[in-house]
Amino acid sequence: MQLIFLGPPGAGKGTQAKIFLERAGIVQISTGDILRASVSKGTPLGLKAKSFMDQGALVPDDVVIGIIEQRIQEEDCKKGFILDGFPRTLEQAKALDEILAKRNIKMEHVINFNVPDEELIKRLLGRASQEGRSDDNPESIKNRLQIFKDKTQPLINYYEEKKILRHVDGVGTTDEIAERVKAVVGV
Ligand code: ADP
Repeated sequence: MQLIFLGPPGAGKGTQAKIFLERAGIVQISTGDILRASVSKGTPLGLKAKSFMDQGALVPDDVVIGIIEQRIQEEDCKKGFILDGFPRTLEQAKALDEILAKRNIKMEHVINFNVPDEELIKRLLGRASQEGRSDDNPESIKNRLQIFKDKTQPLINYYEEKKILRHVDGVGTTDEIAERVKAVVGV
């Protein structure tokens, strides 16, 4: 099974992806995690990505598209995968369609986690003090929410037209939200 977890920063995509993958026996592909791992290893990719990430800006499309194209060809993705944090722009979504079509892979569900801005800001500031992520500062958070509205929100229509968009209320306990995901996906 292939899914996309869509939603603004702080919507809980990563947390829900981890719960879902255990249940469904598939893998999570988080472009944010892959990029952060490259930054901490100091690879060329990491060096390129770091300044974008610290400002809360998007890493260029060709970079993240390349990451995804490689990653989904790995053996552990054969049983299915959740894309968490990708696609984030229409260009990325169109590139993903081509990548999947070439390999006869079907995207089944796009889960859109709805969370109001005030709640997102509260969560992201909380995460900043707990995890110390360098991009969870007020300036970067503001940028990331704005970029979500400008660049990522159009994907909601894009997937609605393809009839694979499902809405999930992202406010509640982790378990409550996991149950809502289960109800829409059936797993
Ligand atoms: P959040 O959802 O809280 O912003 P992520 O871990 O998904 O956290 O992303 C962190 C940062 O990594 C983003 O702000 C951006 O700089 C970069 N990034 C992750 N995924 C993408 C993507 N698909 N396209 C461009 N940049 C990305």
